Amino acid sequence: MSNKTFLNILIGGFFILVVGFLIRINQDSSGSNISINQNPKLVVGIVVDQMRYQYLTKYWDHFSDNGFKKLIGKGFNAKSNHYGYAQTSTGPGHTTVATGTYPRIHGIIGNSWFDKKSKKSIYCVDDDNYNTVGSSTNRGKKSPVNLLTSTLSDENRIATNFKGKTIGVAIKDRGSILSSGHTANAAYWFDSEEGSFITSTFYVDELPSWAKEFNDSRAVDQYLKPWDTYYDISTYTESGPDNNNYESNFRGEESPVFPHNFKIKNSKTGEPYYWELASTPYGNSLVADFSIKAIEGENLGKDNYTDFLLIDFSSTDYVGHQFGANSKEVQDTFIRLDLEIERLLNYFDKNIGKDEYTLFLTADHGATNAPGFLKDNKIPTNYFYYNQWEKHIESTLKNLFGRTDIIVGSSNQQLFLNHELIDKLGLDLNEVKSSIIKKLQSFPGIEDVYSSEQILNISDDHYIRLIRNGFNTKLSGDLMYTMMPNWTYYRKGSTHGTRFDHDTHVPLILYGNGINQGSISRRTDVIDIAPTIAAVLGINSPSSSTGEVIYEAIDD
Ligand SMILES: [Zn+2]
Repeated sequence: MSNKTFLNILIGGFFILVVGFLIRINQDSSGSNISINQNPKLVVGIVVDQMRYQYLTKYWDHFSDNGFKKLIGKGFNAKSNHYGYAQTSTGPGHTTVATGTYPRIHGIIGNSWFDKKSKKSIYCVDDDNYNTVGSSTNRGKKSPVNLLTSTLSDENRIATNFKGKTIGVAIKDRGSILSSGHTANAAYWFDSEEGSFITSTFYVDELPSWAKEFNDSRAVDQYLKPWDTYYDISTYTESGPDNNNYESNFRGEESPVFPHNFKIKNSKTGEPYYWELASTPYGNSLVADFSIKAIEGENLGKDNYTDFLLIDFSSTDYVGHQFGANSKEVQDTFIRLDLEIERLLNYFDKNIGKDEYTLFLTADHGATNAPGFLKDNKIPTNYFYYNQWEKHIESTLKNLFGRTDIIVGSSNQQLFLNHELIDKLGLDLNEVKSSIIKKLQSFPGIEDVYSSEQILNISDDHYIRLIRNGFNTKLSGDLMYTMMPNWTYYRKGSTHGTRFDHDTHVPLILYGNGINQGSISRRTDVIDIAPTIAAVLGINSPSSSTGEVIYEAIDD
């Protein structure tokens, strides 16, 4: 071989090597190194029970740097996030977050509702087919039996071939169960009779050892103590006076003021009143304690399969109902919740990894103002006299039909007609409806009475659209009434269940792996949360989700 031939072979070989190398680079850049989804080790879903968006701005100056401020400063804040249906409440709210669709589709139309089949009221998560795990009471006979669609965590379970886990933690059974869906490894809630976290045989036959240990340690008893403000009460200038007529007392208290030395034990039997602690910020601390134990005990966020931890901070709701949106008690509860969120973030950073988890935080509904507070400040409001309303319905039915059993039930501002009886009497259903509507519309505080046909034939009217989204054709009633703005059955504290802004406008903060830093003011809907997180994970949205991806929060 001549030198020239050898050189040619050498150059040729070198050329082949270079081309091969370039092809490999090209192959790399065309796919093999690229990931099309985020793979956080853990998704943390926090639902605060009864939280207006406004609480973030109102209490901002009292928050620590590492709770809400960190979530918003480093994460994504959707400033105008609303429930898109009327009659917000806890069961429907948690389910809407989890399923990305409305009660109209997911079937949780209230915390309880009149059941057309059994002709009695049913509670959204009651299920006699299952038993309590973790205490001797009946409080664990629950399941997601009435939830008609899949949840986001169900879709994650399917996507990971059931290797990614789902755990729910709350004070309230419905908060935990409906957030976690059908395929959860377990949902836990607080049995306030025995002061223990329990679950249902729907999930497991026995509490795992870490949950047993938590209950046996009686760590809960540290919270059986008086409640005073976290900071000096004189600095709580954003709220009304501590002593006022718009608040209810704790058991054993003479006025609703700090420090709350509520009765923690039955003086005769010595039995602790665990229920009372659920109505203080300590209930939220307890949920944070148990959530951390769940992460440790279940090894959440430790492998490459995304796990879900769904936390419901239920105590904010009990405090809100008792004291109202403008109270020092609500202010102190949110200042303390901020510190619990700081504690959780610190724990996640240390034990899961700083950029290894994705978090969303929202609420299941907002809060009305206490009617007395509005009245004293010249804002139009009034009490809706429910007893008189029931009597008015009865006398209307007697006058029209000579009997009252034309209506068989009522729930969530809906009336259920006795269809069999109407048939038997040879009455025309539509005429029955319109004659009742005419008579009910004149009652003080009633704004409108709709027939189911009017609701189903959806119009462009904003409020009718909200009512339609909360109205399930098979489960809901024949007639529905709405009350005038700010009218309420409640005398004291805050409530929810309306279609008004203070009730539908709730926080939505996204944070962590796959989430951009930023904010938007365009209106988003709570049903957008599930598809947005699904897009981060690259998994299916829940089966009936109609929400849209909040792309500003996640696009490159
Ligand atoms: Zn609630």
